[in-house]
Order: sequence, then structure tokens, then C-alpha cells
Amino acid sequence: MRRPTLAPLALLLLTAAFLRPLSAWAAPQIDSQYGPLPVFELHSGFWINLHHTLYQQAKQRRDTKGIPAGAPAAARRTKTEQLAWDAAVSYYVANYADKDLLFNTEMSLLKNQLGDFEGCDELSGVRQKTCDAGLPQKLTQILEAAAPGYRAHEWSDHDRANRRWIAQVAPLVREQGLGLSERLADIYQTRWPTEKIRVDVSAYANSQGAYTTLGPLRVVISSTDPRNQGSAALEILFHEASHGIAEPVQQAIIRECRQRDKAIPRDLWHALLFYTTGEVVKPVFAGQTIGSPDPQYTPYAVRERLYQRDWDDYLKLLTRFWQPYLDGRSTFDDAIARMVSAL
Ligand SMILES: [Zn+2]
Repeated sequence: MRRPTLAPLALLLLTAAFLRPLSAWAAPQIDSQYGPLPVFELHSGFWINLHHTLYQQAKQRRDTKGIPAGAPAAARRTKTEQLAWDAAVSYYVANYADKDLLFNTEMSLLKNQLGDFEGCDELSGVRQKTCDAGLPQKLTQILEAAAPGYRAHEWSDHDRANRRWIAQVAPLVREQGLGLSERLADIYQTRWPTEKIRVDVSAYANSQGAYTTLGPLRVVISSTDPRNQGSAALEILFHEASHGIAEPVQQAIIRECRQRDKAIPRDLWHALLFYTTGEVVKPVFAGQTIGSPDPQYTPYAVRERLYQRDWDDYLKLLTRFWQPYLDGRSTFDDAIARMVSAL
């Protein structure tokens, strides 16, 4: 859920952009039954789901020192499928399990590339030239070898969970998406991105259940994480997307701190993002008793006790100085200045 700095990576990103095939633009995006949604484009892609599943299992294997984590699919795989799967998990343990999905550039580029090739049933381009993803040869082999077993035993469950998650949030995005995006951009004194934000819905994401990478702005959300279900889905979408427009807040906090010779508070901007998205989303559910399991909407950070754990002081500052700004009783600059001077 945090945000990395990707500024020096323009060249790498440019390279990745050149590698993007024509098929990327015809990728199978999942929309609601009424056509494209505003603000977001929601995807359930095969390779990106395989990638996050392998990453997740590699971490488990690393943390349990090689003892299998007991994935239910293991019982159903053929011997060939199991060998390919074990080789893939081992490769991920050796190469990726220690790299952070969000902060590591290689992981971020790889994830984007696999998302772009969701319309392909191969990554090598052997059968179809436009399906050459340009990944390292060994990784291409590993993923292509693991794919049949994953497709046979796990993918349909994962894809179904992703589509269920999308179907549940889509009506709210259609109804409220544009208004929420305008409100958030207003609050952060910036513009919402003109292009729709790509969201890859995946059975597994990172340990936080969702993360957002920049340049290009892309979101990954876990469809099976209990924290992301029900009414929370809408808030998660907009919290993650807000990572792409929070720069003015971060800059304003830094500026105020420098003027006052204060240390820049770790994560105040992120607590502010959680607080703001929660408050902005709340009215959507207020008084909604039909079709919502959560008429008294509890924001994510309250429900998951993020404030109690680390951000108790931040919550006091936000309630006292940021809330008046959200209510139109203070300016952006005043709110930030007051928060920082009270630190
Ligand atoms: Zn976040």
C-alpha cells in the first residue's frame, strides 16, 4: 500500500514500454455487464495471477524452510505438472522471494509486463510473434512450464474470485466513481489521471493485500484477501489510486517541516491518505440499508486498527486539523501547516 520512488527509472520503463506488444491494447479487460466503467479498468489476467501465486508460495517455502505449505492444488497436479511447479517455486525462491513487489523495480516492471501479455497464451512468442514478452529466457521457460498445471487446477478458481470481486465493486464504481475521483483530486489539489487507471485483480497481491506502482500508475488488489471484501472494495480501489495523486500532500508536508526545521514524519502522508479516502467513501454507504452489509461504514484504517498500531498521534492531528479542511472550514495550506506545527 505504500509508494516507491521510481524517478530514476525512466530508461528502464521506456524499454519496457517498447516491449509492449500490440496485443496489450486488446487485452481482456473485465467490465460490468453494462460496458466500460469510468475511472478504472479492471483486469483478471492469467500471467499476473500465476506470478503472484508463485511469489506467494515462494515466500511461504522460504519462511517454512522448504516444508511445503500444503496448497490444495498440489494433490491434483500430475507428476509433470508438479515437477514444473516445484521448479517454478524454487526459481522464485532463489530470484524473487526476497524482493519486494512494490519497492523493487525489477518486480514492478515484471508485473507490468505480465499484465500487458494477459491476452497471450505464451510469453516466448514462438507461436505468435506479438506474444514475445521479452522476459529473461529462463523465466519465460519457468512460467510457460508452470502454466498448464496452474491453468488446470488453480486459475479457474482464481479467475472466478477476481470476477466476483469485480462484479461486486463495479456497480459502485459506475455510480460513484467519477464523483469520488473528482472529490479526491480536489482535496489533493491536483488532477485525476485522464487515462483510466489499470487495476489488476489477483488472487494474491502482497502482504498488505494491495499495492500501487507508479510510472505508469497501476494497482494490484487481492480478490481473496478478507480485508478487501464487501463495502471495503470501493475504499481500497480509491485508496490505492490516491497513491498516484498524493504528491502535492507529500510535498506540502515536506515543505512545512523544512520551514519549521522539523524531521519529516514517517507515513503521515499515508495516514492522511487512509483518513481521507475513508471519509470520502463514507457518505456512499451512509444510510444505505438495502444491499449493503455495512450501513454504518467503518473506514479501512479504523477497522484494521492501523491508527492504534502506529498512527495514534496522526489520527489526532488529522481529526483536529485535516477534517476541518475536508469540511470546507480551512484551506489545504492551513491544514497542512497546522498539522506539521502540532507535530
Ligand atoms: Zn496505501
